[in-house]
Amino acid sequence: MSKSVAVIGAGILGLNAAYMAAKRGLKVCVFEKQDFPPANASSIAGGMLAPFSEIDTLPMKFVQAGLKGIEFWRDNLGEDFSDCLQDTGSLFIAHPEDKHMLERFAQHLPAISDNWKWVNAKEIAELEPCINNKFGRGLYIPQEANIHPLQALEALAHKLKQLGGDIIKQETTPKELNKDYDWVIDCRGYVPDIDSNLRGIKGEIILLENKEFELKRPVRLMHPRYPLYIIPRTNNIFAVGASVIENSNTDDGLVFLRSAMELMSAAYSLHPSFGEAKVLDMSSAIRPAYLDNLPRIKIDGQDKYIRCNGLFRHGYLLSPVMGNCVAHYVETGEENEDFALFSGQFNSAPTYS
Ligand SMILES: Cc1cc2nc3c(=O)[nH]c(=O)nc-3n(C[C@H](O)[C@H](O)[C@H](O)COP(=O)(O)OP(=O)(O)OC[C@H]3O[C@@H](n4cnc5c(N)ncnc54)[C@H](O)[C@@H]3O)c2cc1C
Repeated sequence: MSKSVAVIGAGILGLNAAYMAAKRGLKVCVFEKQDFPPANASSIAGGMLAPFSEIDTLPMKFVQAGLKGIEFWRDNLGEDFSDCLQDTGSLFIAHPEDKHMLERFAQHLPAISDNWKWVNAKEIAELEPCINNKFGRGLYIPQEANIHPLQALEALAHKLKQLGGDIIKQETTPKELNKDYDWVIDCRGYVPDIDSNLRGIKGEIILLENKEFELKRPVRLMHPRYPLYIIPRTNNIFAVGASVIENSNTDDGLVFLRSAMELMSAAYSLHPSFGEAKVLDMSSAIRPAYLDNLPRIKIDGQDKYIRCNGLFRHGYLLSPVMGNCVAHYVETGEENEDFALFSGQFNSAPTYS
């Protein structure tokens, strides 16, 4: 008889772990305390699949895992959901006063020399005709992608159900489920007190509709305070994010005025037509993060309990590889080739060898 698996949390990590386990023939049930799709860090995320863009903070092995993550999304969305993945790369630009940040970022890139190039004003205009020529220089990274977060959650839920899995609305704890399932996989994201090493990092994002402007790919605008991106969604809608606010415990879903002003002025500085854009939504959520901002898998074999957490800003990028590690372990009792990534042993300063 196949093993039974309970997953707590229907965020991107819980759904990926559940889907991977169901693909291996395990009997999977996801417990989510909110209606599906839940309002959580996963549902409001930007959906950037941008491992190179994070290279100044992400160790090289995680960058490689991120590329695997992009492959996963390409291979697994299926025809019905293939539109939610956009793999047209990403473009970095900076205002003249911030151009040193572009230079500084480029210093990290030689290690991936085949995967990026400097672009001049003419090349920027070819990539993105709506961006005007005040941005004289930029960086183009063709291998990056982005995904529509809510559609990706829906896609995984749909595929999980096709494989016989289920999502039940219920707030629960590992203890409550232990006796009824062979394994419990805890993917609750940031919850105060579930893990003393986990901290909450608030992220805020806004949705704008600008009928006068188009982008073919996400644009990163170098910003002195946090990584800022403008992501095109369908129908001239743009997600502009995301703030990174340390030590945030409460998830009220609200956005600080300062962040709203900064995100909106970034959009306006990209193109003046954003002055007439409509603000469709502003939201926030708490990202789960360990001290080194890298995710962990912790296994308690005796209690058949696995805790996966700490995806910080890389939920969409790394959850496919992380979910696969967990599913493989539950099925076989063995660690696969990526498992060590989530054990903490590579969580040092970036290395480029
Ligand atoms: C503004 C913003 C932008 C971001 N942009 C990106 C991006 O561009 N690219 C990227 O890769 N990542 C991005 N991230 C990060 C990414 O969203 C997170 O890393 C990821 O969502 C974490 O997923 P998770 O499944 O661990 O947690 P969550 O998404 O928080 O899901 C946990 C779920 O568990 C449920 N739950 C909690 N307790 C219980 C319980 N007791 N019983 C049942 N259910 C429970 C919650 O309701 C929730 O639905 C962004 C995050 C934010 C906030």
